[in-house]
This record gives sequence, structure tokens and C-alpha cells, in this order.
Amino acid sequence: MAESKRVLLASPRGYCAGVDRAVEAVERALDKHGAPVYVRKEIVHNRHVVETLSDRGAIFVNETDEVPESAIVVFSAHGVSPEVHRTAAERSLQTIDATCPLVTKVHQEAKRFARDDYDIVLIGHEGHEEVEGTSGEAPEHIQLVDGPDAVDQVQVRDPERVVWLSQTTLSVDETMQTVKRLREKFPLLNDPPSDDICYATQNRQVAVKAMAPKCDLVIVVGSKNSSNSVRLVEVALQNGAKSSYLVDYAREIDPTWLDGVTTVGLTSGASVPEVLVRGVVDLLAEHGFNDVETVTTAEETLTFALPRELRPARTAN
Ligand code: SF4
Repeated sequence: MAESKRVLLASPRGYCAGVDRAVEAVERALDKHGAPVYVRKEIVHNRHVVETLSDRGAIFVNETDEVPESAIVVFSAHGVSPEVHRTAAERSLQTIDATCPLVTKVHQEAKRFARDDYDIVLIGHEGHEEVEGTSGEAPEHIQLVDGPDAVDQVQVRDPERVVWLSQTTLSVDETMQTVKRLREKFPLLNDPPSDDICYATQNRQVAVKAMAPKCDLVIVVGSKNSSNSVRLVEVALQNGAKSSYLVDYAREIDPTWLDGVTTVGLTSGASVPEVLVRGVVDLLAEHGFNDVETVTTAEETLTFALPRELRPARTAN
């Protein structure tokens, strides 16, 4: 008898607390002020989210100088450098800061270690908006290291005053390899006060690790510029999945990927709405993958309050 075709659905997957808050911030800003509302950079790295908000009247720009004076601008979940706040103030923009509180935490760590005159090694991907924002907090103290092979180039002033921090959406395993190399070079390397790779990134990777060895194919729903989504494909391949692909939409799935496949793993990045995962479940069902089993490795309950500028005003008693 032929083996039945099944889908393993990772849990947790999809929206994290920071993305939920950032997307809601733009929606609330549109409700409150009407269109247009400007957003600096993609509010979160997901095509569908950006297109949906654009349809509602959000205008996405690259820099604050593209925003008309005094208009409303939302800063994305990835955070901004102090320089961006300064230029926004110069143009009298009304800012709504949707930076994820877990990114803000890394900014605070960077400021604190810079104040104490440490050399800060920031592990992250060159050109990513979050890294640009964090580096901007203390450019004279921070140097970027993009993976273990970049450690050889790191130079510090005092090997006893070095700390590593990281982007929130990296591969946990690869980051630990980079830290190991850094520690071989600087045995007195300090660790961040708490994990910089956020709970959502870690949880999604743990769920993929649990299901990957059983999967012929792992489909990750997410956009190509979404760091945490791209990492999930890598984690799947490193942990036993025979193949793995990143797709924005179900329609991007090439039916030949399913040839000879019995078990498909399915997950989504932290910026991906569940409706897109449902689209993939439906498509897989059309190809005979009717048995859907959830693989749960953690429960998530964290939520964040909306940015201060959008919270209801307190009424005096
Ligand atoms: S992935 Fe992590 S750091 Fe990024 S928005 Fe979500 S919770 Fe915040």
C-alpha cells in the first residue's frame, strides 16, 4: 500500500509580537489620521503585508526626506538610528515608532556598552535595516561581523573590553559558531546581558529542527528579504530535510517539488500572515496531502502594547 501523503505544520510559525504590533500600528494610524500615512522602509519584510497596507493608503519610502514636511511617518519594526530621528525632527514629521521592543533592547545594550567604552562586535548581515539602526547608536564602537569567517578581520583596542551583540533574526547555530571563533580570538569576550536573537526567531528554528528530519521537503512561507524566513530554509536543510524552498505565495510552488514526496514540512517566517500558510495547505491538499499534523515545540503568549503615539489618551479621574 502506498504511504499516505502528509503535511507537518510547524508551531510556532508566522506572526511574532513585534510584527503584529508594527502592522497594527500602520492600520491604526490610517484609521486615526486617514490616508496617506508614510512608512519608512517596509514595515515588516513581507510582500503581502506591504501590498495590503499600500492598498489602504500607506506610502512606503526609503528615507524621511521623501516624506512631506509635517506629515505622519511610521518607523518600521526593524528600528532606526538616532540620525533618522534627527532628520525626521528637522522636517517636523509626526513620527510613530513601531520598532520592535526586542530590537530597542539591543539598541540600549549598544548604547550602554559604548558608554562604558567597550568595542562592540555586532553579529549580523551587512545592509540589513536592523543592523544599520543598531550600528547608528554607536558607530565609533561597533563593528559588524557577518558570520564566522569574518572573525579574522576583527581588530579591537583592548581585548579585555569586548562584547558581542547580534541582530535579532539570525541562525542560532551559526551565531554560536561566530561567537566560538570570537572567543578563541578574545578569551575575555563578554556576552550580551540576555539573548539578542529573539524568542520568535529561536522558537521557529526549534520547530523546524524538530520536523526537518522527517521531511522530504520543507516549504517556508516568507519573503526573500526576510532574514528570519531565509534562516528557516537553511535550518531545514542543515537538519535533515531533503529539500527546502522559500515562497511568498502558494502559486510559487513548482509541482515538480512534490514528485516522490511523502512528507512536506510547512512553516512561515515571523512576518507572514496565516492566510498565506492556509493557501499552501489548500494547494497541498489538491495534490493529495490531506493529512495535516501539527508539530508543536513551544507556546507563545507574548504581546506588546502599541507604540505610545497610538495608545488612547489617559483620562484624569
Ligand atoms: S522577529 Fe523578533 S525582533 Fe523581529 S519583530 Fe518579531 S519579535 Fe521583534
